[in-house]
Amino acid sequence: MTRNPTGKGHHGLNGCSGLGEIHLRLRDRRFSLILERIPRSEIIPASGAGPAGLPAIRGEILRTNVSEQSEPNSQAAEPRLATAVAEIRSLVADARRRGERVGFVPTMGALHAGHVQLMKTAREECPFVVASIFVNPTQFAPHEDFHKYPRPLERDLAACRSAGVAAVFHPAVETMYPPGASTFVDVPALAQTLEGAHRPTHFKGVATVVTQLFQIVQPDRAYFGQKDYQQQTLIRRMVRDLHMPLEIRVCPTVREPDGLAMSSRNVYLQGADRQSALALSQALKLARERLHQGDKDLPGIRQAMHALLSGTPSVTVDYATLIDPDSLAELAAVQPRMVAIIAARVGTTRLIDNEVIEVK
Ligand code: AMP
Repeated sequence: MTRNPTGKGHHGLNGCSGLGEIHLRLRDRRFSLILERIPRSEIIPASGAGPAGLPAIRGEILRTNVSEQSEPNSQAAEPRLATAVAEIRSLVADARRRGERVGFVPTMGALHAGHVQLMKTAREECPFVVASIFVNPTQFAPHEDFHKYPRPLERDLAACRSAGVAAVFHPAVETMYPPGASTFVDVPALAQTLEGAHRPTHFKGVATVVTQLFQIVQPDRAYFGQKDYQQQTLIRRMVRDLHMPLEIRVCPTVREPDGLAMSSRNVYLQGADRQSALALSQALKLARERLHQGDKDLPGIRQAMHALLSGTPSVTVDYATLIDPDSLAELAAVQPRMVAIIAARVGTTRLIDNEVIEVK
């Protein structure tokens, strides 16, 4: 059994010195076989050592590390529920002792198919998946829906279980923010535009809680949705700037069959507002089609997006624009890769959506 002395991953992973990882399936069980080449420095010369004390055997020695995983399905084991920092750390430490890579999916709960897809992707790549369920007060402004945000814990745990999540971290607010907590993480270059212009304290709360969660769970990989485009851009920048030792994976937006991006806030959409909410994905489609047809008139496209949204009953636009995928700056001219991005209120429900658009 091997353990990387850094405590992060295996020798054979993360582009280190290993030979690779093989996944074997046997009935409903899955095994991951990790092949590692033993570094010469770790080989103790036997009595039959070769010349100059070098071991007679060369680098062909392999050690294997086989770990058994259950498939992500409804038969999966009940996830362990941890509310204390020490509890989740101990579960993660056990997984590391077994040599398992740790994946992490941070959420605010009220889980839907978009969250489940993130968990399943994590489960495909990582034998041990942790999900967090925490409605983070610091990312809500006082007038926003923190208290009313849905918290269906039992249903969420069932969703985690069906996705093969091994442990759920569900802390109390006081655990994450004990009395006197006063340290915040800010990424101002990406936090003030778009969502930040309408929710000025939002991303400081997001960056802070995500940093705390990364510190607590210490995953090898964390999974985020493209649905929150600005959020994943900002988190990738934060991880880079602070040299956080993990990989960020971004997964595509999961949509309802009619195009509405899945969101925990969709449950607020009452009556005709559910139909009106389709205006967001329709405005993104309009932008994509015009750009794909060779239209270079960005102000005209923005205006058409606004007109479609504002012409829909109960829709009020916060922004609907085309931006650079990395800097998030509003574009003055067409470029090969762009993001159409929208925030709008439908009745009293605020929704966001986006689409990456590529043109030749
Ligand atoms: P939330 O619970 O809203 O904080 O979201 C938790 C994670 O799920 C974030 O990384 C979101 O981007 C992601 N997510 C939310 N909705 C979707 C969706 N429709 N498709 C894919 N990922 C999503």
